[in-house]
Order: sequence, then C-alpha cells, then structure tokens
Amino acid sequence: MVRPVIEASDLTKTYRMGDEEVHALRGVSLRVDPGEFVSIMGPSGSGKTTLMDILGCLARPTSGRYRLEGEDVAHLSEADLARVRNRRIGFVFQTFNLLARADARENVELPLLYAGVPRAERRARAEAALSAVGLADRMRHRPNELSGGQRQRVAIARALVAEPALVLADEPTGNLDSRSGAEILALFEALSARGVTLVLVTHDAAVAGRARRVVTIRDGCIVGDTAARPVLA
Ligand code: ADP
Ligand code: MG
Repeated sequence: MVRPVIEASDLTKTYRMGDEEVHALRGVSLRVDPGEFVSIMGPSGSGKTTLMDILGCLARPTSGRYRLEGEDVAHLSEADLARVRNRRIGFVFQTFNLLARADARENVELPLLYAGVPRAERRARAEAALSAVGLADRMRHRPNELSGGQRQRVAIARALVAEPALVLADEPTGNLDSRSGAEILALFEALSARGVTLVLVTHDAAVAGRARRVVTIRDGCIVGDTAARPVLA
C-alpha cells in the first residue's frame, strides 16, 4: 500500500471572537496519495484557507488527527512545525509573497538557505528551478521588474526547489489576468505530469476543474469528492 502524503481525519477548527465561536472546519477527513493533483473548491468563507493552513502546518487544528507522510503533525510545537514546513511543503499564494528587494534567483534560493544547503548548490538548484518554469532569462530581475504571471512562476520555482512532498497553492491565479492564469494552470498540469503532489485551493470551478480530483467544501464540511474514495476511519 502507498503511504499517503496527507491523512487527515475529523479536523475541526474553531475561532473565538469575543463570546462568539466560528466553526470554520466541522470535521474534515481527507487522504491524498503521492502524485495526486487535487483541488479544494468552495465559496468564500467555506473554510478553504483554514484547511490549507492546517495542511500546510501553518496552523494547528482545534481537534482531529493529521499525518503528513506518516508523521503526526497535529500536536507539534511551533519550532517543529516550521521544520516540517521547510522540509516537506512548498507554498504558492495568491499574492506571490516574494521578497521585493531580492531578485528571482535569490527568492528561489531561500528555502535552500533555511535548509543549510551550500551556496554553490543553492545557486545551481535555483537556476534549474527557474529554467524549469521558463524564466531562465529573468533570474536577476526583481519582482517589480516582472509581470504578475512571471512573479507567480518565481513563487512556483521557490515552492519546488527543495523537492517537497507536497505543494499547496491558495488561489494561485486569483491576482492574474486570464491569460497569465491559464499559463500558471498549464504549469501545474505539467508539474502534476512529473509526479509532483499538488493541492490547489480555489473558489473558481473552472480553475478547480483542471485538477484530476475535485473536493468540494461548504460551511466547513467536505460535501463532494470526485475521487469518491472512502475517507479514513
Ligand atoms: P475561505 O478561505 O474558504 O474563504 P476561511 O478559511 O478563510 O474561508 O474562513 C472560514 C470561516 O472562518 C469564515 O467564517 C471566516 O470568517 C472565519 N475565520 C477565518 N479566519 C479567522 C480568524 N483568524 N478569526 C476568526 N474567524 C476566522
Ligand atoms: Mg481563502
């Protein structure tokens, strides 16, 4: 049996706002196997970003279990979560989240810098990752010298450079015009064809439909899954 990348069961997340409780997740179970390309689709406020933050080890669930590549991460300390994020997960955000004062190559080198990879190897791997997303001729450009689509490709190169087990993308085309958005989605499809495990969060059915599997979330519950695989016990 393959070891799942994501094994989440009965995740809940409750935010407290004064004396009010917001139940952002109400018992979400999800399994994602290596090489899958999954979209999580739902309207605004349905809990997508909350789920993404937990899957990405940026936040802990209120209750429930989460194993990432078999390791129980639901109860790790902040420091251990940071280590897991850096070693196992690549992130792509709607707003790119690049360092403005660093050029494309320096941005892509960052995860390798945190991982303690020596300088020459860092540089070579960042250049290879940028070439793989079609930016071989833009390595020394800063974000403000690049188009939105190019910035998102830098972010994708940064997400991939440390060869994570999982790439998480939250509304990755949300700030792009439709042509740049289409290029980014084509790039995700190419990554998926290479075997990268991808989870893409979006409110847009057309974007979600590019993944091989679409999970639908509403009011903090999964209400549909085109893979229709049995959830974890
Ligand atoms: P989505 O990404 O699908 O728009 P979110 O996960 O951002 O949904 O939000 C789910 C619900 O949780 C919403 O009702 C939202 O208002 C609430 N929420 C999200 N983050 C917080 C927070 N930090 N504090 C309080 N409520 C929050
Ligand atoms: Mg969101």
